[in-house]
Amino acid sequence: MKYYSTRDRSTPVSFSAAALNGLASDGGLFIPQEIPQFSPSVRSSLGTMNFIELAFETIRPYVHEDIPDSVLGDMVESAFNFPAPLVPVDDRFVLELFHGPTAAFKDFGARFMARSFAYLRRNEDRELHILVATSGDTGGAVADGFFGVEGIAVTVLYPKGRVSPLQERQIAGLGGNVSAIAVEGSFDDCQRLVKSAFVHPELSRRLNLSSANSINISRLVPQSVYYVAASALAKSGRYSQDGKATPRMRGTGEGQRAVRDGRLGKDVLFCVPSGNFGNLTAGLYAQAMGAPIAGFIAATNINKTVPEYLASGVYQPRPSVATISNAMDVGAPSNFERMTAHWSYEELRKNIHGFWVDDGKTKETIARVFDTSGYVLDPHGAVGWTAVDQWLAAKEDPAHPFAGFSGPVAVLGTAHPAKFAETVEPLVGPVPVPPSLAEAMGRTVQSVTIRADVEALVETLLTLRS
Ligand SMILES: *Cc1c(COP(=O)(O)O)cnc(C)c1O
Repeated sequence: MKYYSTRDRSTPVSFSAAALNGLASDGGLFIPQEIPQFSPSVRSSLGTMNFIELAFETIRPYVHEDIPDSVLGDMVESAFNFPAPLVPVDDRFVLELFHGPTAAFKDFGARFMARSFAYLRRNEDRELHILVATSGDTGGAVADGFFGVEGIAVTVLYPKGRVSPLQERQIAGLGGNVSAIAVEGSFDDCQRLVKSAFVHPELSRRLNLSSANSINISRLVPQSVYYVAASALAKSGRYSQDGKATPRMRGTGEGQRAVRDGRLGKDVLFCVPSGNFGNLTAGLYAQAMGAPIAGFIAATNINKTVPEYLASGVYQPRPSVATISNAMDVGAPSNFERMTAHWSYEELRKNIHGFWVDDGKTKETIARVFDTSGYVLDPHGAVGWTAVDQWLAAKEDPAHPFAGFSGPVAVLGTAHPAKFAETVEPLVGPVPVPPSLAEAMGRTVQSVTIRADVEALVETLLTLRS
């Protein structure tokens, strides 16, 4: 598989180059020359393979020229060492993607990216320095994914005082090859500093800089795996047994079991709580590969750039607005360029139905779903749940893009509710903390504070790394 830039299709590069460079030199995003297809034999046996086998079959066509099968097999086994259960709740399912070490779905991408970087750079002597700006979740997942990986150093920039205490410990509590810089400013300041660092002459001469943000193709491809796995499971008429780590505090959640179970055996409609749209793009890849997926609901908070585009055909990026589902506070989603490089507006409009949800509705949903089923949603999952409600209400309209749909609906649970306890607990009471988060809470924050100034960043990076 070769990759090219969304802005220039004339110079194909390898997976290795696309992954290690992150962004193309013309500023575009790397996309595969074509989205690979499952062979008929793989396709017919998707329902009988386990998660690791599905991960191997899904990722292999994207990487096999650069990563041998035996290496890839070990990589997916160690990266995806936690479950992604499809849990029944009321009339739908929640695909729980928060059982990894940082309790958010970004663990899937970050853990695979770290392992692929370590392999692709196995013959390099010079240390790679990954610089990443975070508003919260990405920094923790990247720090955790790369922690202890030889030959790679990571520095995470985060806005001082604007991430939760837990997020700060996930970012700044590891030490070792992971450094943390608290910037006196906003997330936008952090991002601006990272961008200026990449073009700073002295820094690029002295440090071998790379990025690890969500536009990296090596983070995107592994996110297709859980769509393949969940849709294959539902299509074969099954779902996951309610795992003990599932954030359900009372009740059985069996309220509308007949409705829900009657929908199994068919292609799945996924509802994806979205910000930068990397997760949804990975779902589109899984569907194009041949996974049994009927379509998507794109759920956003008030940062509704993409739902508006889907409704009107006009793409109007805006500055982001702060919400309680803060990992989705994105006004100019970076993966939009990738989606529209593969698919036309007409194709996207038929396949993705967009809804947006404000904070008031999000909180109402957290409280209501807990009352009816005992299931605790996090604010991001609650945006998704509410979007499904809106979609169900609109379904009577014959002009509705999925008017005749009768298959299972699965909302992606992108984060564990304990990660957003300050929002969730006033609505539902105390939320049990999973072991990985409890462990992180016990860490000591070790970060350097700087003002939002490029020279301050350069000086700090050079002292940290020399
Ligand atoms: C990052 C994140 C999202 C948004 O995912 P995108 O791929 O940026 O659309 C949603 N929920 C949570 C909890 C996240 O951390």
